[in-house]
Amino acid sequence: MTEVLIRGADHLVTMDDARRVLAGADILIRDGMIVDVGHGLTTTGEVVLATGCVVTPGLVNTHHHLYQTLTRAVPAAQDALLFGWLQTLYPIWSRFGPEHMFVSAQVGLSELALSGCTLTSDHLYLFPNGARLDDTIEAAREVGLRFQPTRGAMSIGVSDGGLPPDALVEAEAAILEDCIRVIDAFHDGSESSMCRVGVAPCSPFSVSRELMRDAAILARDKGVMMHTHLAENDEDIAYSLSQFGCRPGEYAESLGWIGPDVWHAHCVKLDASEIALFSQTKTGVAHCPCSNCRLGSGIAPVRAMRDAGVTVGLGVDGSASNDAGNLVAEARQAMLLQRVAFGADAMSAMEALEIATRGGADVLGRPECGRIAIGARGDIAIWDVSGVASAGSWDPAALLLAGPTTVRDLFVEGRQVVRDGHMLTFDLNKAVQRQNDLARALQ
Ligand SMILES: [Zn+2]
Repeated sequence: MTEVLIRGADHLVTMDDARRVLAGADILIRDGMIVDVGHGLTTTGEVVLATGCVVTPGLVNTHHHLYQTLTRAVPAAQDALLFGWLQTLYPIWSRFGPEHMFVSAQVGLSELALSGCTLTSDHLYLFPNGARLDDTIEAAREVGLRFQPTRGAMSIGVSDGGLPPDALVEAEAAILEDCIRVIDAFHDGSESSMCRVGVAPCSPFSVSRELMRDAAILARDKGVMMHTHLAENDEDIAYSLSQFGCRPGEYAESLGWIGPDVWHAHCVKLDASEIALFSQTKTGVAHCPCSNCRLGSGIAPVRAMRDAGVTVGLGVDGSASNDAGNLVAEARQAMLLQRVAFGADAMSAMEALEIATRGGADVLGRPECGRIAIGARGDIAIWDVSGVASAGSWDPAALLLAGPTTVRDLFVEGRQVVRDGHMLTFDLNKAVQRQNDLARALQ
């Protein structure tokens, strides 16, 4: 039996069903699960003092492309819209191989961990030069984050009227075969799972109607979740109308891509009927505010989605379109973006934090994560609020209104991953050096 007691947080923001915020409270984690929350708890195991700190559930990232940490701030892609941005980056990504996938995932996952994330999905949809989903799964094991990798895919290349170069697309039979391989090899559906695999054709404009449909059938047969990009910007809507004769929501619905086992990234351009459809069917949304700003895609109607009861989580999106992967900063951006569109009362700091924690966990089908409650997993972020970023703050909402933007400590499944702002699990400096070498070699 292994116990960790996190003792005496100034403020414990539980995100439990009552959304309690407790002063001076403790959390007891036993064998990876939270077994008690309250005052004056004791243990014979490890004790971590959290005085001077705000303690929250670990944040949950619902959309990322970890490999893109190798292509941050590429000059020709800095100011392009989505489709032009993709066309600039595809040739660079086509030179990646297994080591690029592994190292970029190590770096991206560490950036998330240091910004409070304990559970992240990843959407890997290109597999050049022998790269495999396995490369990112190995990196997540080493870093120690709970991982939800999705086996993405592109099958319509330029010569078939699609956007990606032909060298980056795969045959649809091979895609489905590899989905089965990685699910059988790595998917663990248990509550304590550190790895759940999903199925994720890249987007309606890079795979066929048949692959979308077959991927949904396969995912449901295997009992895994499904993910893709949807309704990201005006070009995306125009493409859907001209190629499919309908809006993205109708297209998704017609192919089985609606339901509690589905989550769509972006959804910036969902209309009222699509929001109602997502609400009725419990279809999830990964909101990516920085990426939407960076690519000029627009402001997702998150206020309307939440009011309609849509399950919304937060995503940093790939580091080629953010270009940061700081999840608590993303939560702040989500709050600010709703306010600039709909007014200062459109989203509170605590609501943005809720989206970043239990909202994301619900989107990923992990209601045992994203909250601090008895029976939930021991995924905890400890934020030191005694320093310069939040000095003088009156309320734990300062975490989003002020700072800090990195954690002091982070626990995943009761295991410490970050201590005093440093990765405990592996040599991050070495990975960063290797990443910089790989990025230089690509230029
Ligand atoms: Zn994306």
